[in-house]
Formats: sequence, structure tokens, C-alpha cells
Amino acid sequence: MTLSIFDLFSVGIGPSSSHTVGPMRAAAYFASSLSDAGLLDRVNAVRIDLYGSLAATGPGHGTPTAVLLGLEGLRPESVTPAQVDERRASIAATGTTMLAGRHPLALTEDDVVMHPLTVLPRHTNAVRLTALDGDESALASETYYSVGGGFVEREGEDSGAAAAAPAEVPFPFRTAAELLAHCRRSGLGLAGVMLANEVALTRGSHGDDAERGDATDAAAATVRTRLLAIRDVMDECVATSLGRTGVLPGGLAVRRRAPEWRERLRVEDPHGAPEFWQEWVNLVALAVNEENASGGRVVTAPTNGAAGIIPAVMHYARTYLPHHLPPGAEVPVPVTSDDDVCERFLLAAAAVGVLYKEQASISGAEVGCQGEVGSASSMAAAGLAEVMGGTPEQVENAAEIAMEHNLGLTCDPIGGLVQIPCIERNAIAASKAINAAKMALWGDGSHHVSLDQVIATMRETGRDMSDKYKETALGGLAVNVVEC
Ligand code: SF4
Repeated sequence: MTLSIFDLFSVGIGPSSSHTVGPMRAAAYFASSLSDAGLLDRVNAVRIDLYGSLAATGPGHGTPTAVLLGLEGLRPESVTPAQVDERRASIAATGTTMLAGRHPLALTEDDVVMHPLTVLPRHTNAVRLTALDGDESALASETYYSVGGGFVEREGEDSGAAAAAPAEVPFPFRTAAELLAHCRRSGLGLAGVMLANEVALTRGSHGDDAERGDATDAAAATVRTRLLAIRDVMDECVATSLGRTGVLPGGLAVRRRAPEWRERLRVEDPHGAPEFWQEWVNLVALAVNEENASGGRVVTAPTNGAAGIIPAVMHYARTYLPHHLPPGAEVPVPVTSDDDVCERFLLAAAAVGVLYKEQASISGAEVGCQGEVGSASSMAAAGLAEVMGGTPEQVENAAEIAMEHNLGLTCDPIGGLVQIPCIERNAIAASKAINAAKMALWGDGSHHVSLDQVIATMRETGRDMSDKYKETALGGLAVNVVEC
């Protein structure tokens, strides 16, 4: 599998990449396939079956709405929160879903059939869509699996990108050992290796007849532009969240805290003093996750539930880095601007994200929260260590430390909402990532547990974890805290 950075960092809406973004994407694929096959006008009804975790916590995660909007042809990367509100209200008021945006069906959230206790063999997050004609005969039926981070797989196809022909990249890797070997041979850091691969993936779209050098330069510029656009969406997410007050939707009455904390910091830290770094990191993490919980626009990093960690740690890198270098150290790489810091940070973080996606999982429904918040913390630690000037071994060590201390983290969201413990958990995991990077930078890169070993441990721990703790809201805080 050759994963793109932009598979891991994609723009979508909250609150969940696996329960909102993935199902919307799957339904949009289905609607598009009906349209392409010329079947739209023959469709009299669409049956929607949600299985496993999608049914158990789907309502709290907005899954039924996401599927209906996907059937209308809306896609998570382009839909706006205002469109979601407008179409959801319209469907509820009229009882009509517009299949592929033009074919009316009597279909609302109430028609979605839930099977929370049925887990299909391939993955716990499954949605089956069946188009029926006027005689209730099936015109088409597809089963899709939302496997985390907004990735979708279709029954009958090989897993993920493995189904596609492997793309030609200069530094193919599945494991941290392979990644480090590329770094040693090439003299590049993790960010450099990831950039070279992404440029190769991008170069194809610049035309075969272009001069190779020109095409590479153009591709590199495209990658940089897209990375900075991801950074900008992260920044916009924080700004939007800080402009909102009140309680989050879903019935738990969880108050938005980030705007209040922003006002407090205006008073207590008017000049950006370094000793307030922790409060600012907390603020950014909360802002992103409060926006995610309200269905706002976020970047999967690598998932929605863990979307606040990388922006929070990147905020630290962009703001405080000079104050937290090891004594006597200088930044030995030409980090000259905010754009450079963000580009290198995201590249190194993505390189580590590839390792989790390749060897384990980034889905809370598959391996618990260690796969979402743990992976994001590990990716953020790598990004920070990279821009602090870490060697590849130190960067790998930072990623390993961050995951090692997130092992076993369960997914037990109260009410099936991505709010408690998710929002605060992002802030805590951001701090772990910063500490992991600092610890790694004070070492020489040698350490006992390799990143590959800790990823394998995460995968096996997730496999052994009871289903109660894998995004079903059937265990942990979800059952020990009474909802009001
Ligand atoms: S507990 Fe973790 S994995 Fe579960 S919904 Fe919250 S952030 Fe996602």
C-alpha cells in the first residue's frame, strides 16, 4: 500500500471520521454508482442497514444523517456545516431524501435499520445499502466498511489501497525499520523521505511530456501548497471554535470551554510568555475537539476524534520551540518560517501515521482509543522532534515513547458522543507528545523498545481488548456515568 499524506490528513466534518466521514463517503459512492449505471430513475427505495459499532454509537456520531447526506451526493471533503444543517432539516421536514441530488425518495433517519449486536466478519463498522425497485427487488446492493480515518473499503475488494496497483515511490516502507534504513541511506530525515514519496505520487498528475525536473518542482510546490492548506484548515477550525459559545449538541450539556479559556489567557498571558505554553496547547486541543463535537469542519489527523492533538502540538512548535530546545542546542535544520515548520512537522507526522495504518489500525472501533488518540500523539511527537532538529532515530524514539504510554487506552465515549472523554483526552495526549519529543531529544536515539515493537503491541492489545471498549459505548465511562 502506498499511502498519501492527504489520505491521513483530509478535510471533513465532525464528529467522527469512522462514523461520520466514512459512512458519508460510502453512501456518496453508492449514489454515484447508481447514477453511473443509469439506475436512478428505477430506484423506489433505499434500505440502509448499519452494523456493529456504526449502529451502537452511530446516532451519537451522526451516522444516519451522514449516510442520508452521502446518498444525496454530498461529500465530506466539500460539504459545509451549514449545508449539513440545511439538508438535515429539509429531510426531516419533507420526509424526502434526494438520491444523487435529483431523485426523490421517501427516506429519513427513522428508516435506518440498526444492528448493534451484529458484527460482520471483515470489520465492526459496516453499512449495507440496497436500492430497490417498485417491486421491492434489489437493483443494487453494496456493503461498505468504514475502517478509520475516513477510509472506506467495499465488500468484494481487497483491503484499502492494496487493491490498487502499487504506486512507484523512491522510498517504499511499511515499518519503522524500513523507514530508518531509507533515512540512513539517503541522508534524509523522516520529513524528507515522506516528501520525496509524496512528490512521486503527485508527479503523475503533471503530465508525462513535462521535463522530469520541471515536473518534480511542480509536484513539490503542489505538495507544499496542499500541506499549508491543511494547516490553514486547522487554524480556521480553532478560530471558528473560539467564536462560539454555549453547550455542545447531543444532550450531555457539555459546555464549550475554549472560548472562556481564550478570554482568560488574554488577561493572564497578554504577551505570550513561555511559561503559559501548556495552557495554550490545552486551548488549541479543546477548540478543535469542541468544533469537531459540534459537527464542524476539521482535518482528520489521523481521525476526527483525535483531531486536536496535532494542531495543538504544532502550535507549540510554531510558538515556543526556541524556548524548549535542549540546553546549548541550536536548530540544525533551516527552519526559517512558520510555513517551513508546519510543512516539516506534518510530513514527519504523516510518515509515522503510515506505520500505524500499515501495521495496525487507526480505528477506535477496531483497537480502542490507543489507535486514535495514541496514534495521533505518536505522530505529533514525531513532528515535533523533527522540527526540533532530531535525528531520524530520535524522531522514531519520540513516536515510540508517545505510543508506549497510550497503550491499552480504551474507547468508552459517554452517550456515544465524541465529547467525554475525547475532548480533554486530546489535550492530555498533546502534552504526552511534547514530553515524548523532549525526552527523545535528550537521548541519542538508542532505546530498548522499537517503534515497530510498540505498534505490534498496540495491534495485539487492541485485538485482545473486549468489544465493550471499542467504540460501542457499552463499557467504561459510558456505563459508569449516568447521563442527564
Ligand atoms: S474515546 Fe477515543 S477512540 Fe473513542 S470516540 Fe473518543 S477519541 Fe475516538
